[in-house]
Amino acid sequence: MSSAANLRVAIVGSGPAGFYAAAALLSSELGVEVDMIERLPTPWGLVRLGVAPDHPNIKAVSRAFEKTALNPGFRFFGNVEFGRDVEHEELMRLYNAVVYSVGAQTDRALGIPGEDLPGSWPATAFVAWYNGHPDFQELSFDLSGERAVVIGNGNVALDVARMLALTPEELAPTDTTDEAIEAINESGIREILVVGRRGPVQAAWTPVEVGELGELAGADVIVDPADLELDPASEAELAQAAPTVRRNVDHLREYAARTPTGKPRAIRLRFLSSPVALLGEEKVEAIELVRNKLVGGRAVTTDERETITCGLVFRSVGYQGVPLPGVPFDEHTRTIPNEGGRVEPGLYAAGWIKRGPSGVIGTNKKDATETVALLLEDARAGKLPSRKAGTLEELLTAKGVEAVMYAGWEAIDRTERAAGEPHGRPRIKLCSWESLLEAARTK
Ligand code: NAP
Repeated sequence: MSSAANLRVAIVGSGPAGFYAAAALLSSELGVEVDMIERLPTPWGLVRLGVAPDHPNIKAVSRAFEKTALNPGFRFFGNVEFGRDVEHEELMRLYNAVVYSVGAQTDRALGIPGEDLPGSWPATAFVAWYNGHPDFQELSFDLSGERAVVIGNGNVALDVARMLALTPEELAPTDTTDEAIEAINESGIREILVVGRRGPVQAAWTPVEVGELGELAGADVIVDPADLELDPASEAELAQAAPTVRRNVDHLREYAARTPTGKPRAIRLRFLSSPVALLGEEKVEAIELVRNKLVGGRAVTTDERETITCGLVFRSVGYQGVPLPGVPFDEHTRTIPNEGGRVEPGLYAAGWIKRGPSGVIGTNKKDATETVALLLEDARAGKLPSRKAGTLEELLTAKGVEAVMYAGWEAIDRTERAAGEPHGRPRIKLCSWESLLEAARTK
Protein backbone atom coordinates (compact mmCIF):
# COMPACT_ATOMS: atom_id res chain seq x y z
CA MET A 1 0.00 0.00 0.00
CA SER A 2 1.20 3.49 -0.75
CA SER A 3 1.43 6.33 1.72
CA ALA A 4 -1.22 9.01 1.30
CA ALA A 5 1.36 11.58 0.12
CA ASN A 6 2.86 11.80 -3.34
CA LEU A 7 0.20 9.98 -5.26
CA ARG A 8 0.62 9.46 -8.96
CA VAL A 9 -2.60 9.25 -10.95
CA ALA A 10 -3.09 8.53 -14.65
CA ILE A 11 -6.15 10.00 -16.37
CA VAL A 12 -7.05 8.46 -19.70
CA GLY A 13 -8.91 10.92 -21.95
CA SER A 14 -8.46 14.69 -22.06
CA GLY A 15 -12.02 15.96 -22.43
CA PRO A 16 -13.93 17.97 -19.83
CA ALA A 17 -14.32 15.04 -17.39
CA GLY A 18 -10.58 14.34 -17.51
CA PHE A 19 -9.66 17.97 -16.96
CA TYR A 20 -12.16 18.48 -14.15
CA ALA A 21 -10.78 15.32 -12.52
CA ALA A 22 -7.23 16.63 -12.94
CA ALA A 23 -8.16 19.98 -11.39
CA ALA A 24 -9.76 18.27 -8.39
CA LEU A 25 -6.76 15.98 -7.89
CA LEU A 26 -4.20 18.77 -8.23
CA SER A 27 -5.98 20.91 -5.66
CA SER A 28 -5.84 18.15 -3.04
CA GLU A 29 -3.56 18.56 -0.06
CA LEU A 30 -2.23 15.05 -0.61
CA GLY A 31 0.31 16.14 -3.20
CA VAL A 32 -0.96 14.43 -6.32
CA GLU A 33 0.81 14.25 -9.67
CA VAL A 34 -1.34 13.72 -12.74
CA ASP A 35 -0.33 12.27 -16.10
CA MET A 36 -3.06 12.61 -18.71
CA ILE A 37 -3.02 10.19 -21.62
CA GLU A 38 -4.75 11.14 -24.86
CA ARG A 39 -4.98 9.32 -28.17
CA LEU A 40 -4.94 12.52 -30.26
CA PRO A 41 -2.08 15.03 -30.30
CA THR A 42 -4.63 17.64 -29.10
CA PRO A 43 -6.49 17.98 -25.79
CA TRP A 44 -10.06 19.04 -24.79
CA GLY A 45 -12.03 16.15 -26.33
CA LEU A 46 -15.47 17.21 -27.54
CA VAL A 47 -14.77 20.84 -26.62
CA ARG A 48 -12.41 20.96 -29.60
CA LEU A 49 -13.98 18.30 -31.78
CA GLY A 50 -17.66 18.11 -30.80
CA VAL A 51 -18.96 21.55 -29.75
CA ALA A 52 -20.28 23.34 -32.83
CA PRO A 53 -17.81 25.86 -34.29
CA ASP A 54 -20.43 28.62 -34.23
CA HIS A 55 -20.51 28.27 -30.42
CA PRO A 56 -17.16 29.88 -29.52
CA ASN A 57 -18.39 30.83 -26.06
CA ILE A 58 -18.90 27.17 -25.18
CA LYS A 59 -15.48 26.29 -26.58
CA ALA A 60 -13.97 29.00 -24.31
CA VAL A 61 -14.24 26.58 -21.36
CA SER A 62 -10.86 25.29 -22.57
CA ARG A 63 -9.29 28.37 -20.93
CA ALA A 64 -10.07 26.84 -17.54
CA PHE A 65 -8.48 23.55 -18.68
CA GLU A 66 -5.37 25.46 -19.84
CA LYS A 67 -4.92 26.75 -16.28
CA THR A 68 -5.07 23.18 -14.96
CA ALA A 69 -2.53 22.06 -17.55
CA LEU A 70 -0.05 24.67 -16.36
CA ASN A 71 -0.01 23.21 -12.84
CA PRO A 72 3.53 21.85 -12.20
CA GLY A 73 2.05 18.51 -11.11
CA PHE A 74 0.35 17.99 -14.48
CA ARG A 75 1.71 16.35 -17.63
CA PHE A 76 -0.05 15.75 -20.96
CA PHE A 77 0.87 12.73 -23.07
CA GLY A 78 -0.88 13.18 -26.40
CA ASN A 79 -0.58 10.83 -29.38
CA VAL A 80 -0.61 7.90 -26.96
CA GLU A 81 -3.33 5.38 -27.69
CA PHE A 82 -4.67 3.34 -24.81
CA GLY A 83 -4.80 -0.34 -25.76
CA ARG A 84 -2.13 0.08 -28.45
CA ASP A 85 0.69 2.13 -26.90
CA VAL A 86 -0.15 1.54 -23.28
CA GLU A 87 -2.29 -1.07 -21.55
CA HIS A 88 -4.43 -1.11 -18.46
CA GLU A 89 -2.07 -3.42 -16.57
CA GLU A 90 0.87 -1.17 -17.35
CA LEU A 91 -0.94 1.89 -16.03
CA MET A 92 -1.99 0.03 -12.88
CA ARG A 93 1.67 -0.83 -12.32
CA LEU A 94 3.02 2.69 -12.87
CA TYR A 95 0.36 4.66 -10.98
CA ASN A 96 -1.44 4.49 -7.67
CA ALA A 97 -4.72 5.09 -9.44
CA VAL A 98 -6.14 5.30 -12.97
CA VAL A 99 -9.18 7.38 -13.92
CA TYR A 100 -10.86 6.57 -17.23
CA SER A 101 -12.59 9.58 -18.77
CA VAL A 102 -12.73 8.44 -22.38
CA GLY A 103 -16.27 9.58 -23.11
CA ALA A 104 -18.70 7.68 -25.30
CA GLN A 105 -16.80 6.89 -28.47
CA THR A 106 -19.47 5.68 -30.84
CA ASP A 107 -23.02 6.36 -31.97
CA ARG A 108 -26.20 4.43 -31.24
CA ALA A 109 -27.78 2.57 -34.14
CA LEU A 110 -31.43 2.88 -35.20
CA GLY A 111 -31.74 -0.79 -36.16
CA ILE A 112 -33.85 -0.18 -39.28
CA PRO A 113 -33.48 -1.41 -42.88
CA GLY A 114 -31.37 0.80 -45.09
CA GLU A 115 -29.53 2.34 -42.15
CA ASP A 116 -26.18 1.56 -43.78
CA LEU A 117 -26.99 2.88 -47.26
CA PRO A 118 -24.57 5.51 -48.54
CA GLY A 119 -25.97 8.89 -47.58
CA SER A 120 -27.00 7.68 -44.11
CA TRP A 121 -24.50 8.91 -41.53
CA PRO A 122 -24.11 8.99 -37.80
CA ALA A 123 -24.37 12.67 -36.85
CA THR A 124 -21.18 12.18 -34.84
CA ALA A 125 -19.20 11.57 -38.06
CA PHE A 126 -20.46 14.83 -39.59
CA VAL A 127 -19.68 16.70 -36.36
CA ALA A 128 -16.15 15.26 -36.26
CA TRP A 129 -15.68 16.13 -39.95
CA TYR A 130 -16.70 19.80 -39.74
CA ASN A 131 -14.68 20.17 -36.54
CA GLY A 132 -11.46 18.90 -38.15
CA HIS A 133 -11.04 15.55 -36.36
CA PRO A 134 -8.04 13.99 -38.15
CA ASP A 135 -9.73 10.57 -38.43
CA PHE A 136 -12.77 11.94 -40.26
CA GLN A 137 -11.31 14.15 -42.98
CA GLU A 138 -11.48 11.51 -45.71
CA LEU A 139 -15.28 11.42 -45.46
CA SER A 140 -17.24 12.99 -48.25
CA PHE A 141 -20.77 14.19 -47.56
CA ASP A 142 -22.98 14.62 -50.59
CA LEU A 143 -24.88 17.82 -49.81
CA SER A 144 -26.34 18.12 -53.30
CA GLY A 145 -29.84 16.82 -52.50
CA GLU A 146 -32.62 19.25 -51.61
CA ARG A 147 -33.61 17.65 -48.31
CA ALA A 148 -31.58 16.33 -45.41
CA VAL A 149 -33.24 14.51 -42.52
CA VAL A 150 -31.89 14.56 -38.97
CA ILE A 151 -33.25 11.86 -36.68
CA GLY A 152 -33.36 12.73 -32.97
CA ASN A 153 -34.40 15.63 -30.76
CA GLY A 154 -31.21 16.29 -28.82
CA ASN A 155 -28.71 19.13 -28.97
CA VAL A 156 -26.48 17.24 -31.41
CA ALA A 157 -29.41 17.04 -33.85
CA LEU A 158 -29.86 20.81 -33.54
CA ASP A 159 -26.11 21.41 -34.01
CA VAL A 160 -26.16 19.40 -37.23
CA ALA A 161 -29.35 21.05 -38.51
CA ARG A 162 -28.02 24.52 -37.72
CA MET A 163 -24.57 23.89 -39.24
CA LEU A 164 -26.23 22.74 -42.46
CA ALA A 165 -28.24 25.97 -42.52
CA LEU A 166 -25.53 28.55 -41.78
CA THR A 167 -24.81 31.22 -44.38
CA PRO A 168 -21.29 31.95 -45.69
CA GLU A 169 -21.23 35.06 -43.46
CA GLU A 170 -22.17 33.01 -40.39
CA LEU A 171 -19.57 30.34 -41.15
CA ALA A 172 -16.72 32.68 -42.09
CA PRO A 173 -15.67 33.76 -38.57
CA THR A 174 -15.68 30.19 -37.18
CA ASP A 175 -13.04 27.45 -37.00
CA THR A 176 -15.12 25.08 -39.12
CA THR A 177 -12.73 23.36 -41.55
CA ASP A 178 -12.33 25.07 -44.92
CA GLU A 179 -13.58 21.96 -46.67
CA ALA A 180 -16.77 21.90 -44.59
CA ILE A 181 -17.34 25.63 -45.10
CA GLU A 182 -17.01 25.19 -48.84
CA ALA A 183 -19.31 22.17 -48.90
CA ILE A 184 -22.01 23.89 -46.81
CA ASN A 185 -21.76 27.10 -48.86
CA GLU A 186 -22.20 25.14 -52.08
CA SER A 187 -24.80 22.75 -50.71
CA GLY A 188 -28.06 22.21 -52.55
CA ILE A 189 -29.94 21.54 -49.32
CA ARG A 190 -33.10 23.62 -49.05
CA GLU A 191 -34.87 21.81 -46.21
CA ILE A 192 -33.50 20.20 -43.09
CA LEU A 193 -36.16 18.03 -41.50
CA VAL A 194 -35.57 17.25 -37.82
CA VAL A 195 -37.60 14.25 -36.69
CA GLY A 196 -38.43 13.48 -33.05
CA ARG A 197 -40.02 10.20 -32.01
CA ARG A 198 -41.85 11.82 -29.08
CA GLY A 199 -43.50 15.22 -28.65
CA PRO A 200 -42.20 18.75 -28.10
CA VAL A 201 -42.47 18.40 -24.30
CA GLN A 202 -40.26 15.29 -24.30
CA ALA A 203 -37.49 16.66 -26.54
CA ALA A 204 -33.99 16.42 -25.05
CA TRP A 205 -32.65 19.71 -26.40
CA THR A 206 -32.14 22.90 -24.37
CA PRO A 207 -33.72 26.36 -24.79
CA VAL A 208 -30.67 28.30 -25.97
CA GLU A 209 -30.18 25.84 -28.82
CA VAL A 210 -33.88 25.87 -29.75
CA GLY A 211 -33.91 29.68 -29.56
CA GLU A 212 -30.95 29.98 -31.94
CA LEU A 213 -32.94 28.31 -34.71
CA GLY A 214 -35.21 31.32 -34.80
CA GLU A 215 -32.32 33.72 -35.41
CA LEU A 216 -30.61 32.13 -38.38
CA ALA A 217 -29.90 34.54 -41.22
CA GLY A 218 -30.44 32.01 -44.00
CA ALA A 219 -33.10 29.64 -42.73
CA ASP A 220 -36.72 29.87 -41.66
CA VAL A 221 -37.76 27.59 -38.85
CA ILE A 222 -41.04 25.83 -39.45
CA VAL A 223 -43.23 24.09 -36.87
CA ASP A 224 -46.68 22.77 -37.67
CA PRO A 225 -49.13 24.17 -35.05
CA ALA A 226 -50.87 20.76 -35.06
CA ASP A 227 -47.66 19.22 -33.66
CA LEU A 228 -48.01 21.50 -30.62
CA GLU A 229 -51.49 20.32 -29.72
CA LEU A 230 -50.54 18.29 -26.71
CA ASP A 231 -52.23 15.14 -25.45
CA PRO A 232 -53.53 15.42 -21.86
CA ALA A 233 -50.54 13.54 -20.41
CA SER A 234 -48.08 15.89 -22.15
CA GLU A 235 -50.11 18.90 -20.94
CA ALA A 236 -49.79 17.59 -17.40
CA GLU A 237 -46.08 16.87 -17.92
CA LEU A 238 -45.53 20.42 -19.20
CA ALA A 239 -47.31 21.93 -16.21
CA GLN A 240 -44.91 20.10 -13.88
CA ALA A 241 -41.84 20.42 -16.10
CA ALA A 242 -38.61 22.26 -15.45
CA PRO A 243 -38.54 25.88 -16.70
CA THR A 244 -36.17 24.78 -19.49
CA VAL A 245 -38.83 22.51 -20.97
CA ARG A 246 -41.39 25.29 -20.83
CA ARG A 247 -38.94 27.65 -22.55
CA ASN A 248 -38.41 25.03 -25.28
CA VAL A 249 -42.15 24.82 -25.86
CA ASP A 250 -42.51 28.63 -25.79
CA HIS A 251 -39.92 28.88 -28.57
CA LEU A 252 -41.74 26.23 -30.60
CA ARG A 253 -45.08 28.01 -30.16
CA GLU A 254 -43.54 31.22 -31.36
CA TYR A 255 -42.14 29.42 -34.43
CA ALA A 256 -45.49 27.80 -35.17
CA ALA A 257 -47.04 31.28 -35.28
CA ARG A 258 -44.47 32.58 -37.76
CA THR A 259 -44.98 32.93 -41.50
CA PRO A 260 -41.92 31.72 -43.44
CA THR A 261 -40.06 34.71 -44.86
CA GLY A 262 -38.65 32.93 -47.90
CA LYS A 263 -35.11 32.49 -46.62
CA PRO A 264 -33.05 30.18 -48.84
CA ARG A 265 -33.26 27.26 -46.43
CA ALA A 266 -35.76 25.95 -43.90
CA ILE A 267 -35.37 23.89 -40.76
CA ARG A 268 -38.60 21.99 -40.23
CA LEU A 269 -39.20 20.39 -36.83
CA ARG A 270 -41.49 17.41 -36.85
CA PHE A 271 -42.61 15.42 -33.81
CA LEU A 272 -44.16 12.05 -32.97
CA SER A 273 -42.54 10.33 -35.95
CA SER A 274 -40.05 7.47 -36.16
CA PRO A 275 -38.03 6.26 -39.10
CA VAL A 276 -39.10 2.79 -40.25
CA ALA A 277 -36.72 2.36 -43.18
CA LEU A 278 -34.29 4.23 -45.38
CA LEU A 279 -35.07 3.57 -49.02
CA GLY A 280 -32.90 3.67 -52.11
CA GLU A 281 -30.99 1.51 -54.59
CA GLU A 282 -27.40 2.74 -54.47
CA LYS A 283 -27.89 5.41 -51.84
CA VAL A 284 -30.54 7.01 -49.65
CA GLU A 285 -33.37 8.36 -51.78
CA ALA A 286 -36.18 8.52 -49.24
CA ILE A 287 -37.11 7.87 -45.64
CA GLU A 288 -40.23 6.09 -44.47
CA LEU A 289 -41.67 7.56 -41.29
CA VAL A 290 -44.38 6.21 -39.04
CA ARG A 291 -46.61 8.39 -36.92
CA ASN A 292 -46.37 7.69 -33.17
CA LYS A 293 -48.66 8.28 -30.27
CA LEU A 294 -47.53 8.63 -26.70
CA VAL A 295 -48.52 5.89 -24.30
CA GLY A 296 -47.25 6.28 -20.75
CA GLY A 297 -44.60 8.67 -22.02
CA ARG A 298 -43.31 6.19 -24.63
CA ALA A 299 -43.57 6.46 -28.40
CA VAL A 300 -45.85 3.77 -29.79
CA THR A 301 -46.26 3.40 -33.57
CA THR A 302 -49.59 3.80 -35.35
CA ASP A 303 -50.58 2.63 -38.86
CA GLU A 304 -49.98 6.05 -40.37
CA ARG A 305 -46.93 5.97 -42.64
CA GLU A 306 -45.37 8.47 -44.99
CA THR A 307 -42.42 8.37 -47.40
CA ILE A 308 -40.38 11.52 -47.78
CA THR A 309 -37.68 12.00 -50.42
CA CYS A 310 -34.26 12.94 -49.12
CA GLY A 311 -30.65 12.53 -50.15
CA LEU A 312 -29.04 12.56 -46.75
CA VAL A 313 -29.89 11.22 -43.31
CA PHE A 314 -28.08 12.01 -40.08
CA ARG A 315 -28.80 9.61 -37.22
CA SER A 316 -28.52 11.68 -34.06
CA VAL A 317 -29.95 9.40 -31.40
CA GLY A 318 -27.14 9.56 -28.86
CA TYR A 319 -23.65 8.29 -28.25
CA GLN A 320 -22.55 5.12 -26.48
CA GLY A 321 -19.41 3.98 -24.72
CA VAL A 322 -17.09 1.29 -26.06
CA PRO A 323 -15.21 -1.30 -23.97
CA LEU A 324 -11.59 -0.63 -23.09
CA PRO A 325 -9.26 -3.65 -23.19
CA GLY A 326 -8.68 -4.98 -19.68
CA VAL A 327 -11.26 -2.68 -18.05
CA PRO A 328 -14.67 -3.87 -16.80
CA PHE A 329 -17.59 -2.89 -19.06
CA ASP A 330 -21.35 -3.14 -18.73
CA GLU A 331 -22.78 -4.03 -22.17
CA HIS A 332 -26.24 -2.92 -21.13
CA THR A 333 -25.43 0.61 -19.95
CA ARG A 334 -22.37 0.85 -22.20
CA THR A 335 -20.39 2.29 -19.28
CA ILE A 336 -17.69 1.12 -16.88
CA PRO A 337 -19.62 -0.31 -13.91
CA ASN A 338 -18.93 1.94 -10.93
CA GLU A 339 -20.33 3.40 -7.77
CA GLY A 340 -19.96 7.16 -7.72
CA GLY A 341 -17.00 6.75 -10.08
CA ARG A 342 -15.19 4.05 -8.08
CA VAL A 343 -14.80 0.72 -9.83
CA GLU A 344 -12.46 -0.59 -7.15
CA PRO A 345 -9.72 1.11 -5.12
CA GLY A 346 -7.16 2.24 -7.72
CA LEU A 347 -9.57 2.15 -10.66
CA TYR A 348 -12.09 4.94 -11.37
CA ALA A 349 -14.27 6.41 -14.10
CA ALA A 350 -15.49 9.95 -14.79
CA GLY A 351 -17.76 11.61 -17.34
CA TRP A 352 -19.75 9.83 -20.04
CA ILE A 353 -17.98 6.48 -19.62
CA LYS A 354 -19.10 6.62 -15.97
CA ARG A 355 -22.71 7.88 -16.25
CA GLY A 356 -23.58 7.66 -19.96
CA PRO A 357 -23.77 10.42 -22.59
CA SER A 358 -25.92 13.01 -20.84
CA GLY A 359 -25.68 16.56 -19.55
CA VAL A 360 -23.72 19.59 -20.64
CA ILE A 361 -19.98 20.23 -20.25
CA GLY A 362 -20.38 21.65 -16.74
CA THR A 363 -22.16 18.46 -15.60
CA ASN A 364 -18.77 16.77 -15.78
CA LYS A 365 -17.36 19.00 -13.07
CA LYS A 366 -19.66 17.61 -10.40
CA ASP A 367 -19.26 14.14 -11.86
CA ALA A 368 -15.44 14.20 -11.86
CA THR A 369 -15.26 15.85 -8.44
CA GLU A 370 -17.38 13.02 -7.03
CA THR A 371 -15.00 10.44 -8.52
CA VAL A 372 -11.92 12.22 -7.21
CA ALA A 373 -13.43 12.50 -3.71
CA LEU A 374 -13.68 8.69 -3.62
CA LEU A 375 -10.17 8.29 -5.00
CA LEU A 376 -8.78 10.59 -2.30
CA GLU A 377 -10.86 8.79 0.33
CA ASP A 378 -9.25 5.51 -0.76
CA ALA A 379 -5.82 7.18 -0.67
CA ARG A 380 -6.36 8.45 2.86
CA ALA A 381 -7.55 5.02 3.95
CA GLY A 382 -4.35 3.48 2.50
CA LYS A 383 -6.41 1.41 0.06
CA LEU A 384 -4.65 2.41 -3.15
CA PRO A 385 -2.24 -0.13 -4.63
CA SER A 386 1.43 0.84 -4.48
CA ARG A 387 3.11 1.55 -7.77
CA LYS A 388 6.03 -0.41 -9.19
CA ALA A 389 9.31 0.99 -10.48
CA GLY A 390 9.38 2.68 -13.89
CA THR A 391 7.80 5.64 -15.61
CA LEU A 392 5.44 6.19 -18.50
CA GLU A 393 8.21 7.99 -20.43
CA GLU A 394 10.47 4.94 -20.14
CA LEU A 395 7.66 2.68 -21.27
CA LEU A 396 6.77 4.86 -24.26
CA THR A 397 10.41 5.32 -25.26
CA ALA A 398 10.95 1.57 -25.12
CA LYS A 399 7.93 1.12 -27.41
CA GLY A 400 9.05 3.89 -29.78
CA VAL A 401 5.97 6.03 -29.13
CA GLU A 402 6.37 9.75 -29.86
CA ALA A 403 4.21 11.38 -27.21
CA VAL A 404 3.05 14.95 -27.79
CA MET A 405 3.61 16.72 -24.49
CA TYR A 406 1.74 19.88 -23.49
CA ALA A 407 4.43 22.10 -25.08
CA GLY A 408 3.79 20.22 -28.32
CA TRP A 409 0.07 20.99 -28.09
CA GLU A 410 0.92 24.66 -27.36
CA ALA A 411 2.95 24.68 -30.58
CA ILE A 412 -0.06 23.26 -32.49
CA ASP A 413 -2.29 25.86 -30.82
CA ARG A 414 0.05 28.73 -31.81
CA THR A 415 0.25 27.50 -35.41
CA GLU A 416 -3.53 27.24 -35.72
CA ARG A 417 -4.22 30.63 -34.12
CA ALA A 418 -1.60 32.34 -36.29
CA ALA A 419 -3.24 30.85 -39.40
CA GLY A 420 -6.69 32.06 -38.33
CA GLU A 421 -5.72 35.54 -37.17
CA PRO A 422 -5.42 37.33 -40.56
CA HIS A 423 -8.90 36.02 -41.46
CA GLY A 424 -10.58 37.06 -38.23
CA ARG A 425 -11.04 33.41 -37.26
CA PRO A 426 -10.13 31.96 -33.87
CA ARG A 427 -7.92 29.39 -35.60
CA ILE A 428 -7.59 27.34 -38.73
CA LYS A 429 -7.31 23.79 -37.49
CA LEU A 430 -4.64 21.36 -38.56
CA CYS A 431 -6.71 18.39 -39.64
CA SER A 432 -4.24 15.63 -40.45
CA TRP A 433 -2.14 13.53 -38.11
CA GLU A 434 0.92 14.49 -40.12
CA SER A 435 0.39 18.25 -39.88
CA LEU A 436 -0.50 18.04 -36.19
CA LEU A 437 2.62 16.04 -35.33
CA GLU A 438 4.78 18.28 -37.48
CA ALA A 439 3.49 21.39 -35.71
CA ALA A 440 3.97 19.73 -32.31
CA ARG A 441 7.65 19.16 -33.15
CA THR A 442 8.19 22.92 -33.58
CA LYS A 443 7.79 23.44 -29.81
P1 NAP B 1 -29.54 13.14 -26.38
O1 NAP B 1 -29.65 14.45 -25.74
O2 NAP B 1 -29.56 11.93 -25.53
O3 NAP B 1 -30.71 13.05 -27.48
C1 NAP B 1 -30.94 11.88 -28.20
C2 NAP B 1 -32.24 12.01 -28.95
O4 NAP B 1 -32.39 10.85 -29.76
C3 NAP B 1 -33.48 12.06 -28.06
O5 NAP B 1 -34.39 12.98 -28.61
C4 NAP B 1 -34.03 10.63 -28.14
O6 NAP B 1 -35.42 10.54 -27.98
C5 NAP B 1 -33.68 10.30 -29.57
N1 NAP B 1 -33.67 8.87 -29.84
C6 NAP B 1 -33.00 7.90 -29.18
N2 NAP B 1 -33.22 6.71 -29.75
C7 NAP B 1 -34.03 6.94 -30.80
C8 NAP B 1 -34.61 6.11 -31.78
N3 NAP B 1 -34.38 4.80 -31.81
N4 NAP B 1 -35.41 6.68 -32.72
C9 NAP B 1 -35.64 8.00 -32.72
N5 NAP B 1 -35.12 8.84 -31.82
C10 NAP B 1 -34.33 8.31 -30.87
O7 NAP B 1 -28.19 12.97 -27.24
P2 NAP B 1 -27.30 13.98 -28.10
O8 NAP B 1 -28.11 14.96 -28.86
O9 NAP B 1 -26.36 13.08 -28.81
O10 NAP B 1 -26.48 14.78 -27.00
C11 NAP B 1 -25.62 14.12 -26.08
C12 NAP B 1 -25.38 15.04 -24.89
O11 NAP B 1 -24.56 16.14 -25.29
C13 NAP B 1 -26.66 15.63 -24.34
O12 NAP B 1 -26.61 15.69 -22.96
C14 NAP B 1 -26.66 17.03 -24.95
O13 NAP B 1 -27.42 17.99 -24.24
C15 NAP B 1 -25.19 17.35 -24.95
N6 NAP B 1 -24.91 18.38 -25.94
C16 NAP B 1 -25.02 19.68 -25.55
C17 NAP B 1 -24.83 20.70 -26.46
C18 NAP B 1 -24.98 22.13 -26.01
O14 NAP B 1 -25.06 22.38 -24.82
N7 NAP B 1 -25.04 23.08 -26.92
C19 NAP B 1 -24.54 20.41 -27.79
C20 NAP B 1 -24.44 19.06 -28.17
C21 NAP B 1 -24.64 18.06 -27.24
P3 NAP B 1 -36.06 9.98 -26.62
O15 NAP B 1 -36.01 11.10 -25.66
O16 NAP B 1 -37.42 9.58 -27.04
O17 NAP B 1 -35.20 8.80 -26.17
